[in-house]
Amino acid sequence: MTEDELQSLVESVSWQFFKKPFTHRASFNTRLRTTGGRYHMKDHHLDFNPKMATLKRETFIGVIKHELCHYHLHIENKGYQHKDADFKELLTKTGGLRYAPNVQTKRKFHVYQCQNCQSLITRQKKMNTHRFVCGKCGGRLHYRHTYQKNKSE
Ligand SMILES: [Zn+2]
Ligand SMILES: [Zn+2]
Repeated sequence: MTEDELQSLVESVSWQFFKKPFTHRASFNTRLRTTGGRYHMKDHHLDFNPKMATLKRETFIGVIKHELCHYHLHIENKGYQHKDADFKELLTKTGGLRYAPNVQTKRKFHVYQCQNCQSLITRQKKMNTHRFVCGKCGGRLHYRHTYQKNKSE
């Protein structure tokens, strides 16, 4: 999704669910990792985690609605924070998501097994099995499989 597409999506979600125009900028910010989006009070622009755009459209729209709740309430001098009744009410009314879905980056792990003593060795980097041998017995290693894990785990 391009930034222009994001901009027009946010504008149309604002019209459709809030009956109000979104007249500021929406952009992607790759520095957002654990949050889905961010509302900037100073200049009223919205940042979105680019990973949100790769989720189901319905989920991404839920994230957009959440940020638009901050946006519209703040502009109207109403309770725009998560703890405020105005915020909770508008979020429920528009069907926005309370929390952004977990999109933390995954890490890959490669598992090797010694052909001699059967020890399992897990590495984040791929190993050249012609150069590296088992640390316990010096036996030859064989690639077994690769799995993924969340970074925070
Ligand atoms: Zn929020
Ligand atoms: Zn071994």
